[in-house]
Formats: sequence, structure tokens, C-alpha cells
Amino acid sequence: MTPALENLQRLLKRLPGVGHRSAERIALHLLVEQPAQLPELVAALGAAAQSVRRCERCGHLAEEPLCVICADATRQHSHVCVIENSADLAALERSGAYRGGYHVLHGKLSPIRGVGPEHLNFTTLLQRLGSGEVTELILALSNDVEGEATCHYLTDFLANSGAANVRVTRIGFGLPSGGGVLYADATTLRSALDSRREYS
Ligand code: ZN
Repeated sequence: MTPALENLQRLLKRLPGVGHRSAERIALHLLVEQPAQLPELVAALGAAAQSVRRCERCGHLAEEPLCVICADATRQHSHVCVIENSADLAALERSGAYRGGYHVLHGKLSPIRGVGPEHLNFTTLLQRLGSGEVTELILALSNDVEGEATCHYLTDFLANSGAANVRVTRIGFGLPSGGGVLYADATTLRSALDSRREYS
């Protein structure tokens, strides 16, 4: 073990799903077994850090001011599906069940983990609702305590935003309890969207 190797492992261990042994395996893989992959990985990390940002409208990941979804004029942007993160968006896109727009919160409210409204992407949602283009907000947050708290916050937020004419619906019926969009298959997502109900 060298100081540089120790430092690399320490940083790898901070990544989600990477424990001590995995960090050790990845570090040895990159430095000893497949050293040719290392410069490629460093370049990809640098390029992604430089070019990937949040879409100015919905918060999804983008390399232009608007993401590919927001820039797509064939989508029904009057419908906005509110989701926790870009992985949920990818799951909904893979299902092919939805052709509207999205709004990515980048988390959900959690007093226990110290996540308050100021940490989530609510500001641009308010701007979108204020523009009058949105007619329906589809809440696709997980049906656990934090997802529920976030939905409640959003409806209060809407009531105070002057956008009271926006229809608010919630999916989740048929999704596994405590589960979110990410772990549902395409059929489940399609029926969860089809059976969405007014939320209040
Ligand atoms: Zn976008």
C-alpha cells in the first residue's frame, strides 16, 4: 500500500455501493491489471465534469441549456411529471409509457437526513407553473414517508403559488410499497400512469 493508493481507495469508498473490498478491487484493477483504462477514465471524468449540467427548465442532466426532453417539441409539455432523480426519468423513458415533460427534484424531503425544501429543485418548478404552460402536475414520487411528505409540501406550495388551476395527480398505485419508479417494470409504470388520481 502506498499513500497515493490509499488516497484513491479512500475516495472510491465514498462512492455509492462501493465498500472497502470493492474500492481495493477497483484500485488494483486500474493500477495493476488494466492500467490502459486509467487515462480513459480520467479523461471521461474530466469531460463529464466540464460538460454535464442541470437543464435550466427541469433539472434533468443536460449538456446544453435545455435537456433533450425539454428541447423536444413533439412532447406534451403541458404535463409535467415530478420525479426524485434522473434515474427515475430514465426508467420512465425506458417504459415508453409517458410523452410529457418532467421536473427533477434531485431528492425528497427528509428531516432525518437534513434535506429541506431549500435543497430541492423547487424554484424552477415555481417559474414553470407561473408561466401558465403547465396544466397537469403528475407526482411520481415514491410511496414512502419521505415521498408522501414531499407530495404534501408540493400541494401546499402550489396552493400558495397562484397556480391553483393546475391539476395535480399522483401515480404509485400498483407500485410496490416503499418502492419508487426506478424499480418498477414498464407494464407497472404504464398502469400506474394510466390509473393516476387527483391528489389533494
Ligand atoms: Zn429539461
